Amino acid sequence: MAADFAIVNCTIRTMDPNLPIAHAVAWSDQTIVAVGAIDQVQSHIDAHTEVIDARGAVLTPGMVDGHQHLLQGAVFAQGLNLDRVNTLHDLRDAIAKERERLGPNAWLLGFAMEYAALEGQTFHHSMIDDVAGPGPMFLYALDVHTAFVNNHALAISGVDSARQLADASVIVCDSDGLPTGELLEMAAMRTVLDSVPAPTKEQKLQWYAQTMRDQNAVGITEIHMMDGDLETIESLKELELREDLTVRVLQHHFIYPYTDSEIVGELLKTRSSSGSMWQADGVKFMLDGVIDTGTAWLEEPDSHGEGTEPMWPDMSLYHQRVRMFHDAGFRIATHAIGDRAVREVLDGYAALPGGSAGRHRIEHIETSPERTVARFQPEGVTASMQPVHMRWVAHDLSDPWSQRLDASRCAHAWPSGDIAHTGALVVLGSDWPVAPYDPRMGFFAARERRAHDVADKRPVGTTRALTGEQTLAGYTINAARAVGAQDSRGMIAPGYVADIVMWQDDPSQVSTSDVVDLPVLLTAAAGRIVYRTSAL
Ligand SMILES: [Zn+2]
Repeated sequence: MAADFAIVNCTIRTMDPNLPIAHAVAWSDQTIVAVGAIDQVQSHIDAHTEVIDARGAVLTPGMVDGHQHLLQGAVFAQGLNLDRVNTLHDLRDAIAKERERLGPNAWLLGFAMEYAALEGQTFHHSMIDDVAGPGPMFLYALDVHTAFVNNHALAISGVDSARQLADASVIVCDSDGLPTGELLEMAAMRTVLDSVPAPTKEQKLQWYAQTMRDQNAVGITEIHMMDGDLETIESLKELELREDLTVRVLQHHFIYPYTDSEIVGELLKTRSSSGSMWQADGVKFMLDGVIDTGTAWLEEPDSHGEGTEPMWPDMSLYHQRVRMFHDAGFRIATHAIGDRAVREVLDGYAALPGGSAGRHRIEHIETSPERTVARFQPEGVTASMQPVHMRWVAHDLSDPWSQRLDASRCAHAWPSGDIAHTGALVVLGSDWPVAPYDPRMGFFAARERRAHDVADKRPVGTTRALTGEQTLAGYTINAARAVGAQDSRGMIAPGYVADIVMWQDDPSQVSTSDVVDLPVLLTAAAGRIVYRTSAL
């Protein structure tokens, strides 16, 4: 069969153990038809084939972001980006400028606010009221587990005291019982979020499409989307109709402790609903929160005496829900950051009929001792990790994350290399909009165990770094294996889906000092060229 496209004059890192390196590839519609030396591909080229001369560039399978909040992130990203704003002075300055840009009374929305910007103080809205107004303000912390709001936002939302919420969420109050403007976890954030006017459906669809295009430009062809519901399935359908789904999206329905059984019943029916570029065969649970605010579930309390409770007040309900989705054939992803949460999820999966057997996964795993690290491989549980989150942690333990933990738990921070060393499946991602989605930053962080833009060049923790090869696998073949797609995706091989990235050089082999700026030249998602530099 004649190919639609062929790329020649390149080095291909196929990830196929039968042919690790090749020099030409051709595909027809969505499917790769030939991989090998140029003469093996030649017979698939005819007059209608577009032949792209890669001029010595390197091809890898498309990058899979194993943990991301694509649609949510596209909406957040319309607000003020507070990534790397890490002093109170700069935070106030950024808020003041945004208020000036918006004018009075409009909602001032922001995301990716770093805890470091509070400089060790407890948040109180009086710290920012003078610059945030006139008008309401709502800022998501970088992890989207906490929000910071001003007095105006509290007032128009009618939040004037603590209240009982459906899960472990908290409206933080001062000694007089008045809300400080810090809202811990989703049910608390919703008390104010419900007052924020929603964008129109059309506006959101445009933001989604643009966000996917932006991600194509850094090599992303697939996203494991760790949230969603029946409404987001409708958005995915609409995007596909418009041919705007330029990344494949694997939705994981978000199951809250308070998601009622009627909705759970509806979601259970979606197991086999899919389009050509999306599917909805996963679910996401959140067993704990985050280290920085004391909401992670720890074996021993943190330095504030916190971290002793799971996000699910009734653990038997969590296990019951997990069992329902397991029996219905869903892939289960559970957010577990603290060492206790990770252990409890492993115990829960192990108790399921047949166990995980390679199907289920744990998200984040920010600290875990060796005995827990050793369980992933034999128990067939995928570790879904984001080394890029080490960007907020310092070798000298001076950061808000480390300050919550003792030396041993800091030493076992992000044990991605140790888990990979046991032979367990490690999938890599960003958790965007929590951290930037650019996989090149992920390559750097995985190999160096720190961010590229910090002054202290020493690694975080004492566990192994991932090698370049392990990192490449974490963004490609491992991600395919984690979702049972290893026979059709994650490799550049005949019969596989044509998810391909062309790089100036091999991202797994170039020195880490070059990887963050490594040019991405072309991206094909399911055979469609979704990004191409003007030089090609
Ligand atoms: Zn997430």
